[in-house]
Amino acid sequence: MTDKITGACHCKSIKYTITGPIKASANCHCNSCKKMTGAAFATIAIVADESLEITRGEENLSSYMVSDNLTKSFCRTCGTPIFNVHKKFPGNRMLPVGTLDVPEVAMPAINVYCESMLPWIKEIAELKSFDKEFSR
Ligand SMILES: [Zn+2]
Ligand SMILES: [Zn+2]
Repeated sequence: MTDKITGACHCKSIKYTITGPIKASANCHCNSCKKMTGAAFATIAIVADESLEITRGEENLSSYMVSDNLTKSFCRTCGTPIFNVHKKFPGNRMLPVGTLDVPEVAMPAINVYCESMLPWIKEIAELKSFDKEFSR
């Protein structure tokens, strides 16, 4: 793929470009990802440090130490998580793929931390589904 991958927080005060390849994409079911995203699991794309270029609003990034190993960086205006840095994966940034402008490019290949996967996750693809909000 030659097109550059771009992304932004919800309020668009922070924008970024991924200048190198996405090394991996995974659904993470760990409890930290649930708390950090507010979602039932997080789909995370991993890129090299040097592949993530914050093109706008770097001064608006705030950081929070989730644990001794894990730091979350997020938009201080709208709260959108932009990337995590984990000491276990030096040289990499982990991005929740929902902030990509085209998240389709980061289809997850694996599920990790399945020991804490919510028991109903495997059934959600089968739920009655609506294109927009619920309607009768
Ligand atoms: Zn924002
Ligand atoms: Zn996780």
